Amino acid sequence: MTTQTNHHPSQDLLKTFSEGQLSTGMSIAISAHLDYCSSCRQSVEVYESELASEWVATDPGADGPQLSESNILMDRITSQPQVVPITQATRPRRPVELHMHERSVRLPGVLSRVAEKGVVWKKLAGGINTAKLTLDRDAQCDFMYMKPGSQAPRHTHRGLEVTLVLDGTFEDELGEYRPGDFVLRESTQVHTPRSDEGCLCYSVLDSPLLFTSGWSRLLNPFQRLLFNRQLRHSH
Ligand SMILES: [Zn+2]
Repeated sequence: MTTQTNHHPSQDLLKTFSEGQLSTGMSIAISAHLDYCSSCRQSVEVYESELASEWVATDPGADGPQLSESNILMDRITSQPQVVPITQATRPRRPVELHMHERSVRLPGVLSRVAEKGVVWKKLAGGINTAKLTLDRDAQCDFMYMKPGSQAPRHTHRGLEVTLVLDGTFEDELGEYRPGDFVLRESTQVHTPRSDEGCLCYSVLDSPLLFTSGWSRLLNPFQRLLFNRQLRHSH
């Protein structure tokens, strides 16, 4: 499902992904982006082959002289399971479709695996539905579906928010986003996502949103649903 996408992970993020250093939730966002984006796929291939060369070049281990280079490499890979690319480790047998009221969306490979056992949608304020995914101790991961004409509350974050568009489009103060776009918002960026045609996204948050508009009464349930993990840990 390669398409033209305009918003990509940074090279630093792709390199960190290749090294297996990202949270599961973030790795899945990047892995799914790679399904749409050949230029980022090429970058990851380069970083992965550089890493493979480094493994071969350093510390062959006690049995080093007897081992071929490929054996050493395999040994390194199998001794570091987190480095096995999640794209291959978690491929589902067949694509999974998510069904919302207005549309059905076929998910990219790694997200099909995530959704294989089914997802449970919850309605939030503003025409937004989320399906919480239990993937990661360090990040909050959800499918987020914005109904046509919906608008999320204006908000900022304490940490990073990554949104990968899967179907439809949404826009905020900084741009318009299409399927495959990888949108990263930092803690200083206040934004108000909205969608005229409806939009399905996969989103990763690494800390609670901080709402800045006067919707707090409506949004308390929103925050509770999204961030019950953080609430549990802080009390
Ligand atoms: Zn890309």
